[in-house]
Amino acid sequence: MNNQTKLLKEKFGFSSFKLGQKETIDSLLSGKNTFTVLPTGTGKSLCYQLPSYMFDGQTVIVSPLISLMEDQVSQLRKMGEKSVVALNSTLDYPSKKYVLNNLSSFKFIFISPETLNQEEVFQCFSDLNITLFVIDEAHCISEWGHDFRPSYLQLKHNLNKLNNPLTLALTATATESVKKDIENELFSSRDFHTYFYSVNRENIYYQVEECEDKVDFLLSFLAEKNMPGIIYFSSKREAERLAATLNEHLPYSVAFYHGDVSSQDRVKIQQQFINDDIRILCATSAFGMGVNKENIRFVIHYHLPDSLENYVQESGRAGRDGKQSISIILYQKGDERIHYYLQDESFHQKKDLLFLKNKSKEELRKYHSLLSDNQKKWLISLEKNNWNWDSFEQKINSKQFEKRIKTQDMSFYVENKYCRRQSILNYFGNAYESIKQTCCCDNCQPKEMFEFDVEDVHLFEKKVINSEEIIKKLFLI
Ligand code: ADP
Ligand code: MG
Repeated sequence: MNNQTKLLKEKFGFSSFKLGQKETIDSLLSGKNTFTVLPTGTGKSLCYQLPSYMFDGQTVIVSPLISLMEDQVSQLRKMGEKSVVALNSTLDYPSKKYVLNNLSSFKFIFISPETLNQEEVFQCFSDLNITLFVIDEAHCISEWGHDFRPSYLQLKHNLNKLNNPLTLALTATATESVKKDIENELFSSRDFHTYFYSVNRENIYYQVEECEDKVDFLLSFLAEKNMPGIIYFSSKREAERLAATLNEHLPYSVAFYHGDVSSQDRVKIQQQFINDDIRILCATSAFGMGVNKENIRFVIHYHLPDSLENYVQESGRAGRDGKQSISIILYQKGDERIHYYLQDESFHQKKDLLFLKNKSKEELRKYHSLLSDNQKKWLISLEKNNWNWDSFEQKINSKQFEKRIKTQDMSFYVENKYCRRQSILNYFGNAYESIKQTCCCDNCQPKEMFEFDVEDVHLFEKKVINSEEIIKKLFLI
């Protein structure tokens, strides 16, 4: 048995590698920077966790969400790994200070890109022996991607200052243009290997439900299916409203999760959901990127997603354990209008921002508090591009255009009568898969034929949860 297989068995308890893991690990062990695209739930974390044990220094993992970091940290701790820490905004000042003073004692350091950009934090990283630098959910680097985070654009600069340690970029959803951005930003002047795999998720059945009354549909669907699931909303208020309605009618606990829920509550809710104490989450996109709950049986989109990238990322949270799962979009004609409206809104915001063209830095600072989040993001891009307003204007115009096209692609996906899986694969430029699946989508087999694994149905029938018990647990009554 070679070292890798031994580690895989002894540390992680797995008998074989999953798709793409061995290739990525071998590439890193041969000292090559690596960029891997693997579908959601295939085990990207192992691609950096395992080789870390074969390197003598530290592994830094840049991760975009607190929930995702907490999830990864608790997973490593469960495996018995103690030298792991997450540096993010939930740490109070004394804890942060303590972690920074003792940074070299941790093997795995998770950090948000914003925290890494803080001067006092970055200083401490320069003294480390970083033998692997990981950018998880690397699509956040692309201004064209669905989760763009401006602080990701500093990574190139940060890597340079850290003497370009061995780098691994991981993501599940990258179109060709997003892949190019990742390559340019992270590896432009360095050698790197790429491992790109198809986004196909064989165990997810894709369905679009055209319904008059979405709440009615949910109530009857959920009454029959007592299993862990996520319902995604575009609006925080709607997520809360539906969670209240569902809690009234269902015999198990439903919670809501969005950006305005305090960070402590978010961690708590995520943990309860992972432990099956909360059965269903009504969430916005703030929940989930990379969260590893294995037995999510269904993901429902109450509102139409604005792009296939977002849809594939979110629906991909179902069935990480490989068992049969379902993704449903609830659709009413005209649902796409809200996205066009928001895109127009953003176009107007851009026009307003042009008012700042040629203003001095001091003046820009004065206006900063009046700007929207989008406008602040654009300003960061502008600064990075040396305040080139003309190219900015062009870029924003084409971005607006691209967003519109993405929403049109999404509308086409829900309206069309072709295989939905194939539409997704085409969109991501993945090769045609000649083997037809027996459980594919509602355009290939009637939805009545979809069935969950029988053992799952029985498992969750037994686990009806008493919501009073949960409230007692929550408030330690
Ligand atoms: P991703 O980041 O690709 O979405 P994760 O790294 O969170 O996925 O892993 C998904 C699940 O797959 C985890 O429960 C993990 O324990 C499991 N897993 C990872 N590698 C293997 C393996 N080689 N064999 C079996 N299960 C694995
Ligand atoms: Mg992941």
